[in-house]
Amino acid sequence: MSNTKLLTAATESFIREHIQVIEQHANLINIGVPIPAVHTSMAIAQAKMPTFFNITTADRDGTLLFFAPTHLNESVNRLPIELRNVSERDYFIEAMVTRKTVISDAIMSKGVVVEPMISIATPTVQNEQFSGIVFGAIHLGAINEFKNTVEQLLPNKHVVITDNLGRTVFTDDKIALAPLAQFTPFPVYHYITELLPVARVGGNSFIYEHRMNEYGWHIYVLHDTKNAVNDIENNFIVVGIGIIFVICLFLFFAHKLSTKITAPLVDLLNPEGQRHTKKLSMLGNSKEFSDVANKLKRTQFLMQSFEDRLKQQVTEKTVQLEQLNLQLAAQAREDGMTQLLNRSGFDELAINAIKTSYRLNQPFSLALLDIDHFKTLNDSYGHPFGDKCLQAFAALMQRNCKRETDIIGRYGGEEFIILMSGKDVQSHHKMMQKIHQQTMALSLTTQDGEHVSFTVSVGICSILGNVNLNLHDIVELADEELYKCKRTGRNKISSVTYGYTNEEE
Ligand code: GH3
Ligand code: MG
Ligand code: MG
Repeated sequence: MSNTKLLTAATESFIREHIQVIEQHANLINIGVPIPAVHTSMAIAQAKMPTFFNITTADRDGTLLFFAPTHLNESVNRLPIELRNVSERDYFIEAMVTRKTVISDAIMSKGVVVEPMISIATPTVQNEQFSGIVFGAIHLGAINEFKNTVEQLLPNKHVVITDNLGRTVFTDDKIALAPLAQFTPFPVYHYITELLPVARVGGNSFIYEHRMNEYGWHIYVLHDTKNAVNDIENNFIVVGIGIIFVICLFLFFAHKLSTKITAPLVDLLNPEGQRHTKKLSMLGNSKEFSDVANKLKRTQFLMQSFEDRLKQQVTEKTVQLEQLNLQLAAQAREDGMTQLLNRSGFDELAINAIKTSYRLNQPFSLALLDIDHFKTLNDSYGHPFGDKCLQAFAALMQRNCKRETDIIGRYGGEEFIILMSGKDVQSHHKMMQKIHQQTMALSLTTQDGEHVSFTVSVGICSILGNVNLNLHDIVELADEELYKCKRTGRNKISSVTYGYTNEEE
């Protein structure tokens, strides 16, 4: 039980004790004990309980009949009738009407002793009729009982007790509110607590605790705000360190917890993360995060291997494609039947070779070789035999033109072309003569076992120095020479040289 509650209980038992005394004497009258004996008992009781500054009886009209302490009886009897009559007092009227014991508000007494008091009034009943009251006045200035209780239960605190109307019944010495002084503290607004129970007494502010006893008295226990501030100041360092410690503890556990929760995800990003997870797994990782992390790891692994496979496939396909491109490029430049360069393949290389020869001022020759009467060969022995002749002639040319600088091509049908660079044009002409002669010596066997030979006409254009003729011009000049051969009987070589000589064979 809190000390305030104990104090409240003490006020209740205080009132109850006084009620008992009054009710006992009312009861004595009710049961017909002779009045002088009752009066004697009242006088003894009043003497024993000095908080009662009188115990009195009044008749049904409210006129005082007996007054203890008895030495004041004389004085009371001498009072004017209105000061000896309590019929207008609330407690008298209430006791008469309710036929029950009444505890008055805190009021001023009247008559011979004028003091602040609380009256306890019990009605007397004779022949079932209200016959008056027995009442005692508790002198508010003489309630010392509470002082000890307050000192014991609530040291360093202040206490104010009021009646139900807020009139002071008791205060400790330090507060020292006059009896009957109004004391009605109201909670004041405070921005943190919204309503702060603050009482102001004599310019000082107190935080108060409030209870009400069963007789409607208000018990206020006041805490000195100065003491509260001193307490806070005294404890400030302890409180400050405590708060910092709590914050550190909170941060530490928050960090631990967040690390624990996110550890599996951190591991995902960190290849060395396994150790991290193992270390933390002793604390127990979040199962949900672990599951998610494992799934992500599996997905990551699958994606990685898929990516690797894809990369490998792309690399392989790129290599294949490059090879295919090279093959296609080579095929685009090659003649399928003879494996010599085709016309565009030859042109490409020849243009560059001619440029180089011009730059190095080297002689070169371009020869056009056309098999004579090839159509007749085809017609006589069939197209496949014609192909065989073309392949044999191509092989013959390759055997004779082995230098790196020799470029051989099939220029169309049974017409071939050779570009010879370097050395001198005589060597070029000699090479053509060899081909011309070896062709004549070539003998191919038909399906029927017949040996067939053919001849070739050769037109040569040789260039000495830079004469500013391009491939096209030079081919035309060689073709003119070839045409000369054809025109003059075939199976011969005709050449033209640009630079300083022009000879015909
Ligand atoms: P000339 O001596 O005037 O050159 O007479 P020719 O018969 O050799 O020349 P022409 O231009 O009259 O005939 C060329 C023939 O070559 C016609 C064509 O059928 C043949 N021919 C062209 N390409 C091929 C081929 O790849 N294979 C075969 N078997 N014959 C071909
Ligand atoms: Mg021809
Ligand atoms: Mg021909």
